[in-house]
Amino acid sequence: MRLEGKRAIVTGSNSGIGLGVAEELARAGAEVVINSFTDREEDHALAARIGAEHGVKARYIAADMSKGEDCRALVEKAGGCDILVNNAGIQFVSPVESFPVEKWNAILAINLSSAFHTAAAALPGMRDRGWGRVVNIASAHGLTASPFKSAYVAAKHGVVGLTKTVALECAGQGITANAICPGYVLTPLVEAQIPDQMKVHNMDRDTVIREVMLERQPSRQFATTEQIGGTVVWLCSPYADQVTGTAISVDGGWTAL
Ligand code: NAD
Repeated sequence: MRLEGKRAIVTGSNSGIGLGVAEELARAGAEVVINSFTDREEDHALAARIGAEHGVKARYIAADMSKGEDCRALVEKAGGCDILVNNAGIQFVSPVESFPVEKWNAILAINLSSAFHTAAAALPGMRDRGWGRVVNIASAHGLTASPFKSAYVAAKHGVVGLTKTVALECAGQGITANAICPGYVLTPLVEAQIPDQMKVHNMDRDTVIREVMLERQPSRQFATTEQIGGTVVWLCSPYADQVTGTAISVDGGWTAL
């Protein structure tokens, strides 16, 4: 699948899944816009590295996805986009009755409302060009719940609902909107939790991954950032022209249970 001539914006892409998605889109020939809320030399260097490695144009644009005006400005500064991947996300864990209000508001803003703002800014250009792809990185928690993750689960279910609505509003216009629902993905953040979990449970690496971390993932294997990126690239291919309004699970069977 080649994506030359297409510009992709991936929100929250200076690490983890977003970075993996940006890498796969660049590998497929797309111009990529990398984003996070920081504006460090290393952020711009990361974009330069991806551009050089894959022979594509790559830029880093700082924008805070907790702010609606920043979300819209990101799309504007990029000059619009053909592929919009809403990936930025944060997590916080607490029982509902003691869930800090500021954490609830931040999770809803970054994990859900940002996808509304960026889509609102990007869709007119996609309509003008008669082609577009909106891919929202939801979660297995967009389809199922876990205790103590009220804001995250509410936001991710909201993302799946938003995705369906955008798909219906764009149906037949060359624009598709889909959600990807990963289970546990091996990102640097997850990797960093492994030593602690090994200590807490007094288990070796493989056992703690299989028995503790992937307890809800029947394959007992992490999904990888490359697999999420590859799913995005497939959604951008003509094979997926009629795939719209869906929530695609990449979760080793989690939501089949
Ligand atoms: P991560 O922490 O590595 O990446 C999150 C990205 O979002 C980072 O680039 C961070 O800089 C960015 N970000 C955070 N706040 C931001 C803000 N205010 N403005 C702009 N960017 C911001 O985490 P990840 O695991 O790669 O998660 C990426 C997405 O995938 C999230 O939406 C997450 O909910 C989802 N997801 C992750 C997993 C998993 O197991 N890792 C599973 C399912 C879904």
